[in-house]
Amino acid sequence: MKMSFVSKKFLCLLMVLAMCLAFACNSLETLSDPSENTTTTATEVTTTAAPTTTTEVTTTTETATTAEITTTTEATTTTEVTTTTTTEETTTTETPAPSEETTVAPTEAVTAPETTAVVPPSEVKETEEAPSTFVVHFIDVGQGDASLILCDGEAMLIDAGASDQSELIFAYLKKNEITKLKYIVGTHPDDDHIGGLAAALNYASVERAFCSVDDYDSKAFVNYLKYLNKQKVELEIPEAGMELELGSAKVTFLGPISQAETTNNNSIVIRVEYGETAFLFTGDAEYEEEQSLLYADGELSATVLKVAHHGSEYSSTEDFLDAVSPQYAVISCGNDNSYGFPTQKILDRLKERDVELYRTDMQGDILAYSDGKTVTFETEKELSEGEDLFLAPAIIAPVPSGDSDCDYICNTNSKKFHYPDCEAVLKMKEKNKMYFTGDREELIQEGYVPCKICRP
Ligand SMILES: [Zn+2]
Ligand SMILES: [Zn+2]
Repeated sequence: MKMSFVSKKFLCLLMVLAMCLAFACNSLETLSDPSENTTTTATEVTTTAAPTTTTEVTTTTETATTAEITTTTEATTTTEVTTTTTTEETTTTETPAPSEETTVAPTEAVTAPETTAVVPPSEVKETEEAPSTFVVHFIDVGQGDASLILCDGEAMLIDAGASDQSELIFAYLKKNEITKLKYIVGTHPDDDHIGGLAAALNYASVERAFCSVDDYDSKAFVNYLKYLNKQKVELEIPEAGMELELGSAKVTFLGPISQAETTNNNSIVIRVEYGETAFLFTGDAEYEEEQSLLYADGELSATVLKVAHHGSEYSSTEDFLDAVSPQYAVISCGNDNSYGFPTQKILDRLKERDVELYRTDMQGDILAYSDGKTVTFETEKELSEGEDLFLAPAIIAPVPSGDSDCDYICNTNSKKFHYPDCEAVLKMKEKNKMYFTGDREELIQEGYVPCKICRP
């Protein structure tokens, strides 16, 4: 095809224009921070073209994000064509190279000089905004804990049941296609919590891993470390107050506040906030840790409470339940477990507070969906007729040995009195024990105060 002098000139002009634009875009890209996926660069090209003798190319870069290229050509004819191309691109989306567009726009101006063509903003492959989602899977791992939190495509696993649940955990992640865990947490190194973590890591990759300790003498803990090592992920001991993001949910580590003597009382306690709803995961925290949480300034209130220590009577004190004030509670424990979890005392406390209860030992896997305002539940199994969630299993936890013939056992040192089967009595030194039969008022008059765990 034979090209006229004007066309050739115009092609030259196009090339200059394309180069200018490419240069401008290039410098813009280097200016923008790749970590910020909201960075937007706008490129505006205005071309006024007509047959001419003089050519003027002005390139102005006004700000770090906007480049403007204006080409004005004076001509013998009066036809004026203005082409505006606006390209908006985000650094994370694949956008056609802006230089391609500049070659397209002026060509159109040549072939159709009598129209004013405004090229619409280039098709931006928008980061498709999927609706936000949030669900917690309280996985039925028998006697143990395992909670999988999914928010906006990101996953977090808090505990994974005992070692004998490894296959189940592996299969559960596989079934739900959880190949990536953003966070994995072992609330404390007891086997019924961390036993299945290695299996989870055998299926899914993880970004950050946590536990209440970084050293513990157990096979389950060594395995957890081994599988983290394979992924070159270091185990972190989180500090109370630390916050993380899981999708649009906020994860806050509330405890442990201080180092306690027992693994249970060093449990990592996590609050996950999604919209106006919140979930509290308490591990096996007992009275002692609950008290420290009550005195700390972390927000404890939650829509859903994963009841501490499988419903043990040494956790979930009245004060703690009142501070959390849950609408729903989930107890994770094994069917016919030898501990007698959950205990009637805790079930009564929840019932008194009109808490809607879910139990993995009776309902299997429990799924709690939040839309940011309300939480709805789905259970794997339906309750059979006559089953009562607020009734403790028939197996009674073995009563701690001690003198049960008396009404109360007093600690002459701390001046507290307990029921004979209170856990605190087990820890009491024999020389401080005073066995008492009679009215509690007598003890109070003598200056004794009732234990806050067993509440005699
Ligand atoms: Zn424990
Ligand atoms: Zn436990």
